[in-house]
Amino acid sequence: MPIILPQGLPAKAVLEKEQIFTMSEQRAVHQDIRPLEIAIVNLMPNKEETEIQLLRMLSNTPLQVRFDLIRTASYLGKHTEQSYLEKFYKTYDDIKDKRYDAMIVTGAPVEKLAYEEVLYWQELRQILDFARRNVYSTIFICWAAQAALYHYYGLDKTNLEEKIFGVYEYEIKKKRVLFKGFDDTFWVPQSRYSTLFREDVEKIPDLEVWADHPETGVNVVTSKDNRLIFISGHFEYEPETLLREYERDLAKGLNPNLPVNYFKEDDPAKGVRVRWLATANLFYSNWLNYCVYQETPYDLNLLSRKKVAKFGGTSLSSAQQFSKVKDIVFSAADSRIIVVSAPGKRFEEDNKVTDLLIEFHRLQNILLDEDLVEEMSEEKYEEYVFQRDSVFQVIANRYHEIVSDLFLDFHVKQKIDDVMASMLDEVDRDKILSRGEYLNALLMAEYLGYTFVDAKDFIFFDENGEIDTLKTYEAIQARLGDLSKAVVPGFYGSDHLGRIKTFARGGSDITGSIIAGALNAEVYENWTDVDGVMTADPSIFQDAEKINSMTYEELMLMAQGGSQVYHPDAISPLMEVGIPIIIKNTNNPLSDGTLVSKERKV
Ligand code: ASP
Repeated sequence: MPIILPQGLPAKAVLEKEQIFTMSEQRAVHQDIRPLEIAIVNLMPNKEETEIQLLRMLSNTPLQVRFDLIRTASYLGKHTEQSYLEKFYKTYDDIKDKRYDAMIVTGAPVEKLAYEEVLYWQELRQILDFARRNVYSTIFICWAAQAALYHYYGLDKTNLEEKIFGVYEYEIKKKRVLFKGFDDTFWVPQSRYSTLFREDVEKIPDLEVWADHPETGVNVVTSKDNRLIFISGHFEYEPETLLREYERDLAKGLNPNLPVNYFKEDDPAKGVRVRWLATANLFYSNWLNYCVYQETPYDLNLLSRKKVAKFGGTSLSSAQQFSKVKDIVFSAADSRIIVVSAPGKRFEEDNKVTDLLIEFHRLQNILLDEDLVEEMSEEKYEEYVFQRDSVFQVIANRYHEIVSDLFLDFHVKQKIDDVMASMLDEVDRDKILSRGEYLNALLMAEYLGYTFVDAKDFIFFDENGEIDTLKTYEAIQARLGDLSKAVVPGFYGSDHLGRIKTFARGGSDITGSIIAGALNAEVYENWTDVDGVMTADPSIFQDAEKINSMTYEELMLMAQGGSQVYHPDAISPLMEVGIPIIIKNTNNPLSDGTLVSKERKV
């Protein structure tokens, strides 16, 4: 549960680094709370037993949980009374227009069949697509995890000669919220004839392996945004569940192996040694708390529409500004695509990183021009080298400072050094300028724990230097459509030959507006360093006032007339489809900002 912290308490930084959920008094007062809505798609033969096991796991939290039990309509199991199913279960048709905070899809004893042979495969595929669209976070258990990985990513399972049967120990590869409070290894009951190996899963960029076992394969895999969680075993099993499966197989004459690490001293007569239930409960309560409750929107209708938020240079000029951005981003559980500029000025005489990059490019061009260098005196050459290296160092230091002030991992610093080093052989102006946004997006993605997506892969210019709208929109939908938490560098894309090409200065606004247009975003937020659009330049006119609401046309006139707040080319992608723009102040997020839409709001 969130801890309410007083403003300025030093413990905040430490707790946040451990991803412990904290909130300010201000947010606590405004937090709306309602029961979590959970769908349980029960594919297990003994439905009642599985219901009880899963509800136990869900009950271990102070949150209110309301659930729907879902069964397949295209296949009716033999083990559960029809009247029971009709009374307590819904089908996909009953729920297809509903939205849920969370969903669990159970295992099923069909893992020896090819997916297409499973009688309810087509129906399950519909349910899996529904999970992506209408559910905030879904856990897929055992066979369902394999089936979902196959459906979403085309990843096929490996069938095994011998059943993986017993309780296995898994090593945690990376500690994140799902494993909060866990020891380095943990145990999970397994009972299956197929598996997925780490090397195969890791080939898919959207997937992360959190825990695995060298012999029995991966145990916990998630999509990068934590919204799809695939578990290979049965955390939820009761102490005697494996025993019942063992006795069932004995009775069938299948000659099963003794489940490993299960009976005390491997002797069925001595009873079961339970070693998984404490972590099982912790896993489910971590999931409900960190991956569901804190992330899902209050209004579930908002699940499918994203926000796109662009943060300008002054909003990202230092670690302190990064932390303000984090507070803003984490203050609501919306799906947000974050677009970042390069670090701007921290104070009046400071330099914007983009300006430093322009200077770096100028010096670099001189130094890599053999004719110029040949004509130059050695002294002059050394002077240019000194100047270039100084600018280089100033740029590198800007990023290093942010990394160290935010306590980011060492590998991030390494990454910055690699990118910076590559610039020493680079003469292309646009490539050099783009690295300002590129590096800032890498840092922000790391800091927020979001996915980094490079704009070169979805913003495309044609031969005439104009945006290729069709190609760009399709690519944005493909790359960002399914992500709810991503950071994207503004200001550049790729030209028709695949080379980096930048927009005009201030162009991150354009990147943000194109993404918002392509995704049909709920809103495009443009975060800057003033409270909104002002009636006049406040540095000249003291009585300049903030405009609360204006139309796209009015903003266009002001932007074309020289108002620096918003780029004029960043209006049309939103105006055409009526996506509202909100211009807000990172340094004063409680101010309403300026709302720009079709009509002026009074
Ligand atoms: N960093 C670029 C500039 O200073 C683009 C931007 O900030 O929007 O123009």
